[in-house]
Amino acid sequence: MRVRESFLEALPIAAAMVSALPSGQFELGVCNERYQQLDSSRPSNQPLPVIACHDIVRGLQTFFQSGGEEPTRFEWRDGDAVSGRHFHVNIASLIRITGSPPRCLLTLVDRTTEIENARSLRAELLHDSLTGLPNRSAFAEAVDDVMAEGAGASYAVLLVDLSRFSRINESLGGVAGDEVIITVARRLISTLRAGDLLARIGGDEFGILLRLSHGPDDAPAAARRIQAVLSTPFRLARFEVGLECAIGCALVGEEQTSGEELVRNAQFALKRAKSTGRVEVHHPGEAACARYKLDLETELRRAIDQGDLRLAYQPIIDLAANRITGFEALSRWKHTTRGPIDPGEFIPVAEEAGLIVPLGRWALDSALSTLAAWDKDAGGPVPLSMSVNVSAIQLARDDVPGMIAAALATHGIAGERLTIELTESAIVQDPDRATRALQALRGLNVRVAMDDFGTGYSSLSYLRRLPIDNLKIDRSFVSGMLADRDKVAIVRAVLSLADALGMTTTAEGIETIELSQTLAALGCSHGQGYFYSMPLPADEAAAYWRSRLG
Ligand code: C2E
Ligand code: MG
Ligand code: MG
Repeated sequence: MRVRESFLEALPIAAAMVSALPSGQFELGVCNERYQQLDSSRPSNQPLPVIACHDIVRGLQTFFQSGGEEPTRFEWRDGDAVSGRHFHVNIASLIRITGSPPRCLLTLVDRTTEIENARSLRAELLHDSLTGLPNRSAFAEAVDDVMAEGAGASYAVLLVDLSRFSRINESLGGVAGDEVIITVARRLISTLRAGDLLARIGGDEFGILLRLSHGPDDAPAAARRIQAVLSTPFRLARFEVGLECAIGCALVGEEQTSGEELVRNAQFALKRAKSTGRVEVHHPGEAACARYKLDLETELRRAIDQGDLRLAYQPIIDLAANRITGFEALSRWKHTTRGPIDPGEFIPVAEEAGLIVPLGRWALDSALSTLAAWDKDAGGPVPLSMSVNVSAIQLARDDVPGMIAAALATHGIAGERLTIELTESAIVQDPDRATRALQALRGLNVRVAMDDFGTGYSSLSYLRRLPIDNLKIDRSFVSGMLADRDKVAIVRAVLSLADALGMTTTAEGIETIELSQTLAALGCSHGQGYFYSMPLPADEAAAYWRSRLG
């Protein structure tokens, strides 16, 4: 007996030998001090010894009923959730002494600290430390829970983004910023109704899981309450700061499959709200549209890498002489499964994804290489110029003059045979950078055309200051011009403006002979459009040019 006791004492955990009596009861045999402490320190409202506790008895029964060969293990919580302790219980067999009842070794490992640590870590992981509100993960879990309950249809997710918060943080410091966040959280709490949940899901973004007790109209009503409480200025030391917020909302419908998706939908609406300034509600189909764009982006990246894009060349005509003076290079993408995709669709995707820089570099290189090939076929430079479109985004991000100088040198093309087409947005976004770029292009003798003129934010002062050679009159003013006196007036005004500033003009979208004649009569120097030719593959474009020479 002594040996066994000292063996049990040596164990760092509570351990006891337990016998299964023929009566079906269990009897405590030798046990160590840790086990005795466990029995004596049991909560006073649970005076039973450990081996008489319901879960332990069940564990012992399972063990002996199964023959007592395999150990039985389980987790056991002794007491209630607040003061209770957690144990890992192990019941293992002991050699049976002949003539005595079967026995086992019961050991209990106290895991209370471990479990509490994990619990507080989880609480920390699910809470925002500044406001004490649930954080993004907790919010997503809560949304998931209501959706899983099937009570989904009576909920909405509202996202509130503080529009000028980063400015407060930058100008008044992080402490003031924290103060604003705490105040905003308090004010938002005041707008909640029973069953709503507020969370801080980002630096200056709050999420509300809104219970729609009276149907979908509860959502705009909540948005109005939020706007009202946030419209009162915030007092920060000696400042009074006004905060505006953008609110996006997604109602739980048949579309979403998960809480995460619902939050994402609300984010789409929020993004729109930031630009419209209104409370925006997510439309079904918006997510699919964003996914389509993402697909297009991936496929466009691959198409650029694999050289799947082509250029089409549309002739530019000297209207008075009725002669081709050059071509505009326009990108074409024939998708393997979707078929041809309009540049009006993929250029904006390229701009948003930063793919416009490689695309633009490719277009320039490819157009100049075509012109060089035509020169080579003709045994010398052909009397044609090449126009290439350069996006505002590329002008802002890329070293456009450097790239152009290198491409001209590579293909042996003189600068004056190249025209760069820019839109007004290229200049409006960063006038200083645009001015430097345009001056550098002038240094290379490259010509600059203002594309889609009249459709953007025109500022007449930059037209005078910047080295621009040509104004391209947008198709929207040209087509239908003959039946619309206002359009004629605009075209006339652009033509006289160009004349006064010493620029040439190109009318886009000439589809009929009448238009070409009228524009020539009004003094427009150049034109392009389907009346002359669609944009053509390089060899057809060259053949078209030669056919019109004779
Ligand atoms: P844009 O530079 O104003 O090009 C003129 C557009 O008008 C071209 O459309 C051309 O095909 C179309 N067009 C020409 N004549 C007619 C006509 O008589 N009737 C009608 N209805 N349309 C005519 P496209 O090729 O679809 O290109 C659209 C826009 O995409 C271009 O407008 C340009 O802004 C952009 N784009 C095309 N390729 C590139 C490129 O390589 N780089 C950049 N940055 N933008 C490009
Ligand atoms: Mg153009
Ligand atoms: Mg244009």
